Amino acid sequence: MSEYRWLLYDVTDDGTIATITLNRPRQRNAQHRGLLVELDHAFLRAEADDAVKVVILRGAGPAFSSGHDLGSADARADMTPGPGQHPTYQAYGGTRTGVEQLWLQEWHFFLRNTRRWRDLRKITIAAVQGQVYAAGLMLMWACDLIVADETAEFADVVGARLGMCGVEYFAHPWEFGPRKAKELLLTGDSLTVDEAYRLGMVSKVFPAGRLEEDTLAFARRIARLPGPAALMIKEAVNQTQDNQGFYNSLQAAFTLHELNHAHWAVASEGGAYVWTPEAGGLSYKDAEPIRPAERSRP
Ligand code: ZN
Repeated sequence: MSEYRWLLYDVTDDGTIATITLNRPRQRNAQHRGLLVELDHAFLRAEADDAVKVVILRGAGPAFSSGHDLGSADARADMTPGPGQHPTYQAYGGTRTGVEQLWLQEWHFFLRNTRRWRDLRKITIAAVQGQVYAAGLMLMWACDLIVADETAEFADVVGARLGMCGVEYFAHPWEFGPRKAKELLLTGDSLTVDEAYRLGMVSKVFPAGRLEEDTLAFARRIARLPGPAALMIKEAVNQTQDNQGFYNSLQAAFTLHELNHAHWAVASEGGAYVWTPEAGGLSYKDAEPIRPAERSRP
């Protein structure tokens, strides 16, 4: 029933629960432009559908999402000028030059869209497993509730791997707490699912193999609430965070993120907008494996 190429869209429970499934399991649901544009369409479709009360966001395969897609054949086809290029690379700042080009593209497809999903007029649940890395965190954080299975692990490795100050939607201090956010960003270590549960970022940890079924049962409980009450609960909490400075902090951190890209663009004389081996960075082959932050391991 899905007319999407990179995801699945299903509605169950008399139309009250919509499930969006990221469907690039071989690429660990890495996010390229085609997937992100379809995801925005699917979220807005669920938002427009008056029967839908809860939206579940999940990922097919062993991982929820390994982050932005920096190099698969699909991602390269999206970016490369020509008939196969995704049309959004010829708009939304894509035809501009210099810092403006990346700044506008990332604003539209990494910051503004994530904000839009966070404020969706439905209750959203991210159901995650396996790798939830870097931009995978952004997708998950945009949802109102996060449930996981025992295999889930969380990390933003862009500091350690790419010389960047975190991903574009900088919710880290709000989700991890300020000290843990600094530790995880400075080391690239991961957070275990038990620690994520202890921090309150994850509401439920289901046994491996039961994520889909148990998430649906959880969603059904929430779908029983009267729609306006559910939305006003969401809005009351989101407004509280916005009044505490969440929105302004996101904007400010995004500006730093773009400054960080501009640094690498200048340092590489236009060759790259992240830290590369040519600039003294690590190649992926040499990067240490991602390991969980542990109490006594330096
Ligand atoms: Zn970026």
